[in-house]
Amino acid sequence: MIINGIHVTVNRKNIKHMYLKIIPPNGDVKISAPTQISDEEIIKFVNSKMEWILNKQKKMKNTEYIPPLKYKDGEKHYLWGKPYELQLVNSGVEVIKDENKIYLPVSKKSKIKNRQKKLESYYRKELKKEIDNIYEKCIKTVGRKPTDIKIRKMKNWGNCKQNGTITLNLNLAKKNKKCLEYVLIHELCHLIEFNHSPKFYKLMDKYLPNWGELKKELNGK
Ligand SMILES: [Zn+2]
Repeated sequence: MIINGIHVTVNRKNIKHMYLKIIPPNGDVKISAPTQISDEEIIKFVNSKMEWILNKQKKMKNTEYIPPLKYKDGEKHYLWGKPYELQLVNSGVEVIKDENKIYLPVSKKSKIKNRQKKLESYYRKELKKEIDNIYEKCIKTVGRKPTDIKIRKMKNWGNCKQNGTITLNLNLAKKNKKCLEYVLIHELCHLIEFNHSPKFYKLMDKYLPNWGELKKELNGK
């Protein structure tokens, strides 16, 4: 049905309460409702949530919709800033790549979760290797050493704890290698200035003069 110009799909099932979901990319509304509930009650329910729905729809239209990754043949995945086509192969255990493709040794029948895990462990290996490559140079530049470096999937590109542990985002393996260096230098500078004060940015200017460009590149601006 259409309520206030909004597409609403109703799914009646054996449940106690009504639930509302907004579906990307258009922001259509999906309702799950108890079997015996009337259309009037559903309309009333949707209207009571109208402000929230419109708000959500507006946000959805302002952000580019990225469909969830399926890790299937032909899907585009990035490594060090370069796009590769994913190809699933039935043999081997190691992920390998050539000029244009990343070969993932998993069955076409495998679960998305397992494929993701396989590719992510490859990213982790690549990232570790590259951290090793630039580590000495970076700590020499800044003159500080972290107590530990960890790799993790997280919201920020990196973080630095007061105990000297630096954590780097696994997804940095998808970006240009220079971006990894930028994040590592940024976090190492926090071992001198534990904040984002003008003093901190002076350190960044000194140790990585083009950090502003790299930051923009990293965030896709
Ligand atoms: Zn910072």
